[in-house]
Amino acid sequence: MYDIMSKKAEEFISDEEILDTLAYAEANKSNRELIEGLIERAKDCKGLSHREAAVLLDCDIPELNEKMFTLAKEIKEKFYGKRIVMFAPLYLSNYCVNGCTYCPYHYKNKHICRKKLTQEEIEREVIALQDMGHKRLALEMGEDPVNNPLEYLLESIKTIYSIKHKNGAIRRVNVNIAATTVEDYRKLKEAGIGTYILFQETYNKKAYEELHPTGPKSNYAYHTEAMDRAMEGGIDDVGCGVLFGLNLYRYDFVGLLMHAEHLEAACGVGPHTISLPRIRPAEDINPDDFNNAIDDDTFAKIVAVLRIAVPYTGMIISTRESKKTRERVLELGVSQISGGSRTSVGGYADEGEEENSAQFDVEDRRTLDEIVNWLLSLGYIPSFCTACYREGRTGDRFMSLVKSGQIVNCCQPNALMTLKEYLEDYASGDTKVKGAAVIKREIERITNEKVKEIAKQHLFDMEGGMRDFRF
Ligand code: SAM
Ligand code: SF4
Repeated sequence: MYDIMSKKAEEFISDEEILDTLAYAEANKSNRELIEGLIERAKDCKGLSHREAAVLLDCDIPELNEKMFTLAKEIKEKFYGKRIVMFAPLYLSNYCVNGCTYCPYHYKNKHICRKKLTQEEIEREVIALQDMGHKRLALEMGEDPVNNPLEYLLESIKTIYSIKHKNGAIRRVNVNIAATTVEDYRKLKEAGIGTYILFQETYNKKAYEELHPTGPKSNYAYHTEAMDRAMEGGIDDVGCGVLFGLNLYRYDFVGLLMHAEHLEAACGVGPHTISLPRIRPAEDINPDDFNNAIDDDTFAKIVAVLRIAVPYTGMIISTRESKKTRERVLELGVSQISGGSRTSVGGYADEGEEENSAQFDVEDRRTLDEIVNWLLSLGYIPSFCTACYREGRTGDRFMSLVKSGQIVNCCQPNALMTLKEYLEDYASGDTKVKGAAVIKREIERITNEKVKEIAKQHLFDMEGGMRDFRF
């Protein structure tokens, strides 16, 4: 039975409720009056329920779909302005005891080169990332209690935060690791992580069990209830996601929103971010073996309807997607992207070395500077900001700031100041010129005059060598 407040996976992600929702959406996909009403109501930026969002996702009336895209763009502009937060993944280890059928790190794969970074190697990776200009990382590793115990991760986080190379610094470390215990989540919180990220892969229990035949990850309930445990352990910024292509996208779309609703209702705060990966080719993995692939139009629609349904939740797209796809979904709602990514263990410092330890083939292979330059040309502000979590604005404190609209007086100056840092320390000549023009234009959009003046002063001080200003 569906119970949003339940702590049991099969009750807050009720299969029956999802199937009822899908039937309701199917029955109403041409219901003009209902859909127009939903689009109208969503203009208040208070979001939509999973049922309402499912109807929008299924809507087959072209002009109403156009209205949805327009609304998604407006909501994106209202809450995120032109800011796009930049990050990079850092793969620590690809040892894994799980049997995930879509991932090359699954334990049966004998062809892949297994690697785990030492603390010295992590230092080299971090220096390479700092030299690109990155300030925010997402740590990735397989699940392996012997090779990758939590202590290894905690030590690695300490190492990463301690490295200061030239003007570089990693100021926010997000972590994407397998579901674990409340006690472990508490330790991660104490280690100063930003977001705890865990993809559900699919919310469909039967499909989940088939895709995860062996290993600890095969336990659907333990995996699905992980975010509740993370919150219990004191982590209030969590990042959800599904791996599109594994299961029917409509089902997972509804499951994802039900998960967000559950976290908000039962833990007091919804997900900080939603990631939208699509399955990619990799060593031993052929995406054609998974027959639920979604096309680019469907992908764009998912992004747009999510933007409307959960306006305050950041959305993340990785380098799994091409430049073209990224450009399209950026305007519809995506607020964070990775750049210059390597998905192999040790891939930043050992650039060019042929090693098949990669997790998936990267589609967008541009350098960080090329991506920053491209974003600037499109009118965006690439932001390297990490201020909220360092100022204690996490969980519901962050959410209430976004909901009140006041985030513009923090995020906008922080984005511009961190962009300025990037331009001063790492950018190519052309990127510098484009960036300066964007800063000049966007600084005027800060609504609080006092904040604007202080930000202008900080920008000036940065030219004299000062760094790390934040609101
Ligand atoms: N091992 C942890 C886990 O499974 O949750 C976290 C790290 S895992 C390297 C990160 C994510 O990569 C997985 O959650 C999965 O969604 C995604 N992934 C795995 N294989 C992939 C593939 N072939 N293409 C695209 N993404 C993939
Ligand atoms: Fe291991 Fe994660 Fe890959 Fe599954 S998705 S095989 S748990 S690294």
